[in-house]
Amino acid sequence: MTENEEHFIIASGLVKIFQVADLEVVALQGLDIEIARGEMLALVGPSGSGKSTFLSALGGLDRPSAGKLEVDSQNLLKFNQAELTAYRRDQVGFVWQQTTRNLLPYLTARENIELLMTLAGRGLRERHEWASELLEAVGMQEYANQKPTQLSGGQQQRIAIACALANKPKILLADEPTGEVDWPTAQMILKLLHDLRDRYDLTIVLVTHDPRVAEQADRVIAIRDGRTSTETIRAEAQEASAESALVAAPTLREELVVLDSAGRLQLPGDQRTLAGIGKRAKIELVDGGILIRPSDDDRAERPETEPEDEQTSSSLYRSLYSADPLPTPERRNGKAKGRTWWRKSK
Ligand code: ADP
Ligand code: MG
Repeated sequence: MTENEEHFIIASGLVKIFQVADLEVVALQGLDIEIARGEMLALVGPSGSGKSTFLSALGGLDRPSAGKLEVDSQNLLKFNQAELTAYRRDQVGFVWQQTTRNLLPYLTARENIELLMTLAGRGLRERHEWASELLEAVGMQEYANQKPTQLSGGQQQRIAIACALANKPKILLADEPTGEVDWPTAQMILKLLHDLRDRYDLTIVLVTHDPRVAEQADRVIAIRDGRTSTETIRAEAQEASAESALVAAPTLREELVVLDSAGRLQLPGDQRTLAGIGKRAKIELVDGGILIRPSDDDRAERPETEPEDEQTSSSLYRSLYSADPLPTPERRNGKAKGRTWWRKSK
């Protein structure tokens, strides 16, 4: 992998502040994400955590307030308005959850695709040929002359994906692309995204709140409060920990916490509670990694119940990443101290 492939998209310390009347809403508070060329990345996280804000910044629809955002060695924060418009038109394609936002209702499927190419100044012949290829690529040749209302939700999303690819972008951004379709249709759309990624060398970033959808991606990044919190990658079978091997997940995955540029990491709420870590922790360098242990103060006053917020995060992590049942009090005691090992990532 060349350096350019490894760091195709780099967000570092990305900040976005929305001014709403007298209030400032900090939607991104120093987000760090790196995406490799050709990767299919899923972004998950609670509503309001900044997923759409990041997608808009990445797509050149909105400007971040501060930080770094580079795509294919271009600094998006340095673009003037014309450059940003050209970037949005030529280098990225969007698919939204609401099919009505993707397609014009009074145009046929083919016309919807060709319109975007007309706006980008492509010639008649090129428009026709490329639209035909895209209709074939999304399996919708037979529906070229139908209008969106004559198509099912899944078919509309397939045309929407073809429209997103009209200008041959390098990046496909999809905000809840399967949010309004049933699971079999969602699976079909995901398969299509995988196929198109391979066929057109796309890098795909998709936002979803469905763990089944996230699982289909190469990597899952969880965002919390406008920051990257954890990352889940496909784990090599032989490297999996004994614990994760017990989890009957369809694909073996390993969840990693993400360190920001200052070396800060967020300990997942459930593991923190299981380890009895409160406000302070002891850090010890041990063979093979770092051991994080509760401080003596915390050991003394272990909370009996999890605070509200951690309960939420704990169930979120579980529902997203494992089939592991919620811990019973016995298990919790059994698993208490010394279980929080952070292995050095390769
Ligand atoms: P998500 O997509 O993860 O649900 P968003 O990126 O839409 O979250 O929103 C992140 C935060 O920024 C929220 O608090 C939201 O209310 C706020 N926000 C998003 N867009 C705007 C906007 N245009 N004006 C003001 N606040 C916004
Ligand atoms: Mg959103």
